[in-house]
Amino acid sequence: MKANGLIPLSPSQLEEVFPFHFAFDPGLRIVQSGRSLLRMLPQMFPGALMEDFVRLYRPSISLTPEKIPSLIGQPVIFQIRPSEDWLRGQILELEDGAGWVFLGSPWFTSAADLDRFGLGLSDFAAFDPVADVLQILQAQQMAFDDMKAVMVKLSHQRAESRRISARLAALIGNLQGGVLVEDQNRRILVVNEVYCTLFGIPVSPASLVGIDCSESTEQARHRFTDPESFVEGIRRALSERRTVTGEVLALKSGRILERDYVPIFSENVYQGHLWHYRDITDRIAAERALRVETSRLSVTLGNIVDGVITTAPNGRITLVNHAAARMIGCLEDTLVGAPVQAVFQLRQTEPEQEPDPFGRVLDSGQPWETPGGVNGCRWLGTQDGREIRVVASIAPIRGSAENAGLIVTFRDVSKEFEIEKLKKDFVSAVSHELRTPLTSMKGFLDTVLQDPEMPGEVRTEFLGVVQSQLKRLAGMVEQILQFSRLESRLQPLDAVPFDLSALVGETVAELALISAARAIAIDWDGCHEPLEIRADREQIRSVLVNLLSNAIKFTPDQGDVRIGACLQGNQAEITVSDTGIGIGPDEIPQLFQRFYRAPSSGMQVPGTGLGLSIVKEIVHRHGGTVSVTSQPGVGSTFLVRLPLSPAA
Ligand code: ADP
Repeated sequence: MKANGLIPLSPSQLEEVFPFHFAFDPGLRIVQSGRSLLRMLPQMFPGALMEDFVRLYRPSISLTPEKIPSLIGQPVIFQIRPSEDWLRGQILELEDGAGWVFLGSPWFTSAADLDRFGLGLSDFAAFDPVADVLQILQAQQMAFDDMKAVMVKLSHQRAESRRISARLAALIGNLQGGVLVEDQNRRILVVNEVYCTLFGIPVSPASLVGIDCSESTEQARHRFTDPESFVEGIRRALSERRTVTGEVLALKSGRILERDYVPIFSENVYQGHLWHYRDITDRIAAERALRVETSRLSVTLGNIVDGVITTAPNGRITLVNHAAARMIGCLEDTLVGAPVQAVFQLRQTEPEQEPDPFGRVLDSGQPWETPGGVNGCRWLGTQDGREIRVVASIAPIRGSAENAGLIVTFRDVSKEFEIEKLKKDFVSAVSHELRTPLTSMKGFLDTVLQDPEMPGEVRTEFLGVVQSQLKRLAGMVEQILQFSRLESRLQPLDAVPFDLSALVGETVAELALISAARAIAIDWDGCHEPLEIRADREQIRSVLVNLLSNAIKFTPDQGDVRIGACLQGNQAEITVSDTGIGIGPDEIPQLFQRFYRAPSSGMQVPGTGLGLSIVKEIVHRHGGTVSVTSQPGVGSTFLVRLPLSPAA
């Protein structure tokens, strides 16, 4: 640059060195503009009026060609339009009076200003101090932006961690159990109110934060019934750093605590640990009460004679009492968990179709039971291959839950059913037996009454038949009455001393007529010597009559019947044997049951099926026994053993 202000640079050099320059002619029209300035003022083409794009801002004079020489070499500031940014620099004269040139650069205060015009640092001249400032500004801006981003992130993280801490503190504060979180140096990080209450610490949980806990173990040990195991548990947990749950500790106050230890690791580095104490006194008491209740229930159920089975809502067995297991024929434990339908299959005793009762109860929610008592019983196939008759009820368990399962109760009524059947048979047998003599008596009496001319001996014969039928009838009625007296225990034992041998002789004589009619010989092979016993004479007579008349009844004509009575040790033994039709081995066990009549023999001869049960009842009442041995087609032997005097 020359001292007179003339610029010695060519236009291209000018362009290179001053990218924000603009040259103007004496008419104040633009001659040329730097490339960077054109970014800010894109319309500033050669020939355009300078005042349309720039206004002299400092010095604050209106720019005329005359005033320009006074400005040469001075710092000037132009304000560009319309953005109102500033250009700082100076005006120099061009050679040959061609005009002037402004050399300068924009005056930006922030790197963001560059962005507004899409300018970069390369748009400034290398030597331009503005570029340096801008570079610093830009670096500052970047650092500031980075810092802002970091700050934002940090404040987010802080807010999140504050939120988590608050949530954790609230959670721990609300926990039912006492919680103590310690850092790796055993300093308290978090502790809650419950913890303070459990250990009788009289300060607020917040004031404990930061306190060293290593001493507190020793201070707390005296509260426990077994201080050693309390301390040892803590020592072991801290040294092993492994989770320990459900350690039970008893306090001297009678309360019981359960303790968990949870070590806290972050990226495999031990950060501390958490202690969790729960007061389980009430739970233990409730469990104990439940155990007592359960055992009482199972004792009760165990003693119930009916079978009881309960199931879960899915039909699997949850409980079986002893009676149920015995009837079903397996052990209680093996039934628990099995589907009840598989174990408890009821079948009609008559071949009728019946819907599955379990399904019925589950569908309707209504209880179900076998109808009509013993007569409505069902077959139940047992696990050991038997079939028993049961009456049963199935009901939903009404608990708090909608469907709490089922309860099945049942009873083995096989015996009752048999007796019921025998009773029915008895009624029909008795009515038949009573009708037969009655019909025969009526027939004979009608004939006698209708025929006054009947010869005397015929009439006597007919009336004799009537008499014998009456005797039979009376005997039968007497047997029924005797049985019912014995059954209801109305007849007391009238024990008196008497000679059993003599009673046998009397009975043989009594029945001699009947046996003689059948050509059956009664062989009385007893010792015939007096055999003194103390017993109810009439009842023993009944025993002898029943056994002897059965022997005659079930022995074909011309057979043999033998009776004997003698002393055997301290017992009197009565034996009645015959050469009759005998009794099948299957029938023998039922023989002494009420109303039982053996199919092989009982149906062929009249009877009530009560005789032998009367015998058994009387013999037992005297403290004796009765037994039978028999062979079908060969004969039977009944043996009665009586004590010489009945037990008091
Ligand atoms: P009832 O003789 O009236 O039928 P019981 O109770 O005296 O009734 O006898 C029951 C059954 O025992 C008889 O029906 C018969 O089947 C059988 N029984 C009893 N005694 C004899 C016997 N001596 N020989 C063969 N069967 C007998």
